[in-house]
Amino acid sequence: MNQQFLLHKDTAVYYTSPLFDTYSVPHAFFTRHGGVSASPFDTLNFAVGTGEKRDDAQSVLLNHRIAASVFGLDETSVCRTYQTHSTTVLLADENDRGRGTVLPPYDCDVDGLVTVCEELILSVRSADCVPILLYDVKNDICGAVHSGWRGTQGNISGVAIEKMCALGSDKKDIIAAIGPCAGVCCYEVGAELYHIFTEINKDYSKYFVPKENGKYFLDLTGLNTAVLINNGIDDNRISACNICTCCNTKDFFSHRVMGKERGTMASFIMNRRKAK
Ligand SMILES: [Zn+2]
Repeated sequence: MNQQFLLHKDTAVYYTSPLFDTYSVPHAFFTRHGGVSASPFDTLNFAVGTGEKRDDAQSVLLNHRIAASVFGLDETSVCRTYQTHSTTVLLADENDRGRGTVLPPYDCDVDGLVTVCEELILSVRSADCVPILLYDVKNDICGAVHSGWRGTQGNISGVAIEKMCALGSDKKDIIAAIGPCAGVCCYEVGAELYHIFTEINKDYSKYFVPKENGKYFLDLTGLNTAVLINNGIDDNRISACNICTCCNTKDFFSHRVMGKERGTMASFIMNRRKAK
């Protein structure tokens, strides 16, 4: 489904999926605007970083508070992944409220989360990799995954969908939103990735655009859309942002363009509040 994502300017600046908005699902793909961090993490940064320069933890915490306020909550309601390009998806519950913000982070690889809890915000982080949000509109079960090429190869979105089904979801009730990530205009990869993915499914070749130097441009959004469809999600229930993080570093952090000295974006989702 190709509908332009909508830009919102609260304190934090973020995009939403019109498909998710139709179902009133609380979610946000944050840009780099509206936070408190100083350069090169300016301003809405969600990780202290791995380069020589580090952002201070207090600013990162404040940025989580600003972002969570979009949902009328604060950082104590956020549960963050602990991302290592794994395919591990965990069920987050009340004990994970504040995980990675006011509580210690997970002590194992976690690149995806699902939950049935109310007012528990799931957070995945990215800076070119693909954030994917999932929602069961019938049973109110939400999921979030970090799907770079390794996660895509390992079918992490499929792992999350199976976790949701184990909680009672039917695939026909699940909608998906693919956030801002490196676009096919910029995401150059080697021939080895072409071979890895076409061995999984020969139809995936169409997401690789050959370059003259023997390398390829990979369409991560198209590939992840195909993976979601192959996991049983209806084409009409998948929405994609199609904004390239590499081309738009004024608005997004990009690992490809900025290297390690940069901030990291977050994408949030939580379950709809039940009428009281
Ligand atoms: Zn681009």
